[in-house]
Amino acid sequence: MPGRICIIGVGLIGGSFARALKAANACREIVGAGRNEAQLVRAQELGVIDAYALDVAEAARGADVVVLAVPVGSTEGVVRQLAPVLGPNTILTDVGSTKASVVAAVERALGTLPPRFVPGHPIAGTEKSGVEASFAELFQQRRVILTPLSHTDPEATATVRRLWELAGAEVVEMDVQHHDEVLAATSHLPHLLAFALVDTLARMEERREIFRFAAGGFRDFTRVASSDPQMWHDICLANRDALLDLLATYQADLDRLAAAVREGRGEVLLETFRRAKAARDRFTESG
Ligand code: NAP
Repeated sequence: MPGRICIIGVGLIGGSFARALKAANACREIVGAGRNEAQLVRAQELGVIDAYALDVAEAARGADVVVLAVPVGSTEGVVRQLAPVLGPNTILTDVGSTKASVVAAVERALGTLPPRFVPGHPIAGTEKSGVEASFAELFQQRRVILTPLSHTDPEATATVRRLWELAGAEVVEMDVQHHDEVLAATSHLPHLLAFALVDTLARMEERREIFRFAAGGFRDFTRVASSDPQMWHDICLANRDALLDLLATYQADLDRLAAAVREGRGEVLLETFRRAKAARDRFTESG
């Protein structure tokens, strides 16, 4: 097990991972890094990290494992700063919601993809941000996807896998492209749609009335529109190809539904709604 783990970005995900690793006694020491000192002081007060540095290279010096837990658009800049202190034995991993863009950013920053770089993504989170929102149980019984590359050192992958398992997660491996296609469908598209729907309604003149009468369905559908805009800006641009493909398919389906409503073809609506209900019921039953 690693002695020192460095977490760059002690927010919801980085903070929760740190808490879970501490609860499992997974390492001797956790050092945090970020740009906002008040947040890092708070993280230390909360017992999430043992020490911190504002300089990411200083925080990562001597670490056995460095975890990038910053918005995906910040990856390249952060890894450039880390480059001088990443030794041949340092394991580098991340928690970013997109994988091809993170792999490309690491390669641009280092000029190569080190064998001990293990890309990862926990399929867990909330619409909240920051260390105050972090909690040790976030990853319990949740999946973590690792996307090791063909030349990734299996021992490094095994270490990262073990850390996530100690945090309570079930670890699965898949390739980078498959990850980005699956997540575009299950996470990136729904977030974009929720932001778009709330924005459309909020800009309508009678918005006060609309939000006053909004009930459970609206809350369920739009909860994720409370997520951090910068983070989702980064994700949508980072996974643009897969997202645009899905958006085109979704737009075509919406056009078909709009035509059915216009033309009063109820059978199209019923067929679509029944198929969707059956699919969702199966999904929620299978947990
Ligand atoms: P968050 O709560 O906002 O935390 C991000 C942290 O990164 C903050 O502590 C921020 O602190 C720090 N940071 C940002 N830019 C930085 C930079 N250039 N250098 C150093 N530190 C920096 O966000 P999060 O939800 O934990 O998301 C972190 C990562 O996890 C993202 O890549 C996201 O895609 C991924 N993810 C999120 C979820 C989710 O549901 N939220 C789920 C799975 C994966 P300062 O502002 O003080 O620098």
